[in-house]
Amino acid sequence: MDLKLDADDLNMCVQCGLCLPHCPTFRVTGDETMSPRGRIKLMREVQDNDAPVSKEVVDAFATCVQCRGCEPACPSGVPYGHLMEQTRETLVDAGKLTPAWQQAALKPLAHPKLLKAGSAVIAVANKVGLVPSRLGLPDDLPIRQEPLVASGDDVWMFTGCVMDAWQRDVHQATQRVLEAAGFGVRPTGDLAPCCGALQSHAGMGDDSRKLASKLIAALGDRPVLVNSAGCGAAMKDYGHLLGTDEAHEFACRVLDISEFLADHIDALPSVEPLDLSVAVQDPCHLRHVQRVHESTRTVLRPFVRELVELNDDGLCCGAGGAYSVLQPELAGQIRDRKVEAINRVAHDVVASANPGCSMHLAGAGVQTVHPMTLVDQAIRGTSSSS
Ligand code: SF4
Ligand code: SF4
Repeated sequence: MDLKLDADDLNMCVQCGLCLPHCPTFRVTGDETMSPRGRIKLMREVQDNDAPVSKEVVDAFATCVQCRGCEPACPSGVPYGHLMEQTRETLVDAGKLTPAWQQAALKPLAHPKLLKAGSAVIAVANKVGLVPSRLGLPDDLPIRQEPLVASGDDVWMFTGCVMDAWQRDVHQATQRVLEAAGFGVRPTGDLAPCCGALQSHAGMGDDSRKLASKLIAALGDRPVLVNSAGCGAAMKDYGHLLGTDEAHEFACRVLDISEFLADHIDALPSVEPLDLSVAVQDPCHLRHVQRVHESTRTVLRPFVRELVELNDDGLCCGAGGAYSVLQPELAGQIRDRKVEAINRVAHDVVASANPGCSMHLAGAGVQTVHPMTLVDQAIRGTSSSS
């Protein structure tokens, strides 16, 4: 089968194996076909040698978290994330991956009214105990939210889909922090309902391209600030996804919120730091894809007593968008390793800049707080402990 992979990209892999220790699925299984090297070998066998696309081959691709921890570790610079996204898209088009029910489940993300209705139903189901606790949804999942109100036009604050439905308090904190630094903020709201990251991960290329085009058309001129690592990584990749000059220009305007604030750190007020020891959990899409995780530290440092590093070399927590729902066993095993790393260090709270990681870790009893929430609490002189 032609997976439609770029032959040059595919041939960049020299099968050295240096990426293996950085791959969460290889670490928990020890199985070569669940490593980056093994998966790339399978891509070659399918594309170049017409190897059959058996259930085992599809499973090897489906079990990749798409954390891209293998990319910074690769001396050859293999663009693994792009290879995997294209492989999945071809398999979805061939009816071998992401069945119709899974595709249907992702459709409401692009439709704010449907998303609001669906999220209210999930909130009620969660309250009466019908949602598995391993998914980490908080008991007080909001059914209705206070609206976000624009305060100016210096920057866009991307609000997204699931995060806006369930963690609008993080957007409110982010907006207050930006305003404290002197910026007028325009929340994107229904103008840009979804970045398409989950669709892209699922191999739904047409859906993700449509959403990317809609976003680009809606969000002109200003910097687009993103407080969800997964969304920011997807939006920074629009140039590759769409291949147009306009998409490349847009991608250059996308910044993680910490990346933006690190460049304006002197504009934030000097305040008494929170009396907290904060363990920093780097979301993969901030650390391995955007590679701006140091900004989180730059922004947090003045506002808390101390920062604590985890000593697991940034290994994935197993959240991976919808991965924790679709591959619960592997996601749980990967999360166990992250929880062990968190428990190895003394800390008061864990900071994480990705809603998926937060919910996934909460499913194992680890409560996290968004870095912007901590900065906001320090500026407002309120306490934080959970
Ligand atoms: S992806 Fe990179 S690090 Fe991994 S085996 Fe291939 S060349 Fe080596
Ligand atoms: S993206 Fe993550 S899970 Fe997939 S092969 Fe690379 S390191 Fe392993």
